[in-house]
Amino acid sequence: MATAASPRVFKNFINGEWVESRSGKAYENRNPANTDELVGIFVASGSEDVNAAVDAATEAYKSWRLVPAPKRAEILYRAAELLLQHKEEFSSDMTREMGKVLAETRGDVQEAIDMTYYMAGEGRRLFGQTTPSELPNKFAMSARQSIGVCGMITPWNFPMAIPSWKMMPALVSGNTVVLKPAEDTPLSSYHLVQILMEAGLPNGVVNLVSGDGPNAGAPLAGHKDVPVVSFTGSTAVGRIIAEMCAPDFKHCSLEMGGKNIIIVMDDANLELAVDGAIWGGFGTTGQRCTAASRVAVHKSVYGEFVSRFVARAKKLRVGDGLDATIDMGPCINEQQLKTVMSYVEIGKAEGAKLLTGGNRLTSGAYAKGWFHEPTVFGDVAANMRIAQEEIFGPVVSVIPVDNFEHAIEVANGVPYGLSASIYTRNVNLAFAAMRDLYTGIVYVNAPTIGAETHLPFGGTKQTGNGHREAAIAAIDFFTEWKTMYIDYSDKLQRAQIDNAE
Ligand code: ADP
Repeated sequence: MATAASPRVFKNFINGEWVESRSGKAYENRNPANTDELVGIFVASGSEDVNAAVDAATEAYKSWRLVPAPKRAEILYRAAELLLQHKEEFSSDMTREMGKVLAETRGDVQEAIDMTYYMAGEGRRLFGQTTPSELPNKFAMSARQSIGVCGMITPWNFPMAIPSWKMMPALVSGNTVVLKPAEDTPLSSYHLVQILMEAGLPNGVVNLVSGDGPNAGAPLAGHKDVPVVSFTGSTAVGRIIAEMCAPDFKHCSLEMGGKNIIIVMDDANLELAVDGAIWGGFGTTGQRCTAASRVAVHKSVYGEFVSRFVARAKKLRVGDGLDATIDMGPCINEQQLKTVMSYVEIGKAEGAKLLTGGNRLTSGAYAKGWFHEPTVFGDVAANMRIAQEEIFGPVVSVIPVDNFEHAIEVANGVPYGLSASIYTRNVNLAFAAMRDLYTGIVYVNAPTIGAETHLPFGGTKQTGNGHREAAIAAIDFFTEWKTMYIDYSDKLQRAQIDNAE
């Protein structure tokens, strides 16, 4: 384990080697639960580092695209097995670098394992179509083709899962990769890349450049030899990335913010709904793009729900995620903690009722980390800023609603559209909600969080730009269709013309 006395120094990974920074700059990455603990020193890359990584990926693409997909997949199968062997070590390193509790970091590594196995399976599918031609003695088919170097810019809240969502479908499809992980969580990406190399990935197929957004992310997104950019992060940065991609018509996939809701109807199993709201609201310290930061409760069960929910929120144990008795870890960094604290003030000023929490935790062991109390606001109006804007922290707004129609109106009345959930035992309402909630993901009798790797993931409105991650949807993003016609009639045949009579 790294200590302040023996810091681990990490490099960039370019063309199959761990290399020094060309920028000559480095930065410290510290444990958000205890900032005395140095997790490691990482390269603060600049455009020279990015250019070298893109050059390596461009060269490697020439041969990687020709490796048969089932052979590419064999490497992914081996990588999944190696990840499984290292699961405990990678999970505890992840908790140290970003704070979420061990049960959740194990889930994060498991998601990478699942995605790697799943995409390895796709190596023997990648199906296209064959179809009759409209002309005699002519054959028609479609096949997927790889695109080239994929630039990936990822956030800190799922430090291994999200890079795997992007890398595995890109790789099995025959693309090469340059990954720029979030500055707060380069270690988990380091582990993932290391495993892929151990599994036998050829040099240059995957490259890693650590560093911040403007200095390392922007040169990657804007690089002329990077035709595909896959980004997960804030809506503000997503807009910058989209603008950088537009002049060259790059393929650009954006996964951005959320303001997700749990609807609790009057016939809901209230205890189940409370369980869901606690997990959805405070899991990962509320730092998930799918976090349930709003709960809309039917007025006839509002009082009962709120008293049970608040009682449970008060009991959550906050602390270092490596301690198995802890329920909720710290915020990722000081800036995020300050954002949370500022939204608490905004909520109070807007007239929402602070029911529990609302403070930074600073005593004893909390003094060295970025901890905040689980916080619940009640009597929140749907148009308040705390009910409209993504906070990305342990703050839940409870909104009373009159009926089902009102709940749907509140649910859809935000700029985002990632995930929504309804607790009801009425099958008619459940189906109406599935139809009317304008989000990319809908849950019935389960909270808004928790994606499975073989189903599409993503959202509507300002959450995304129409693409989806995971499942076959990810293969769709990382490939292009090629349609092929083979005419074996030995004469000129013209579609739409020669078959008209
Ligand atoms: P978060 O709120 O999750 O930190 P950000 O959108 O700030 O979300 O960051 C997500 C990723 O985008 C990170 O890897 C970050 O370094 C990167 N990033 C931030 N700003 C830029 C930028 N101007 N250009 C490219 N990448 C950026």
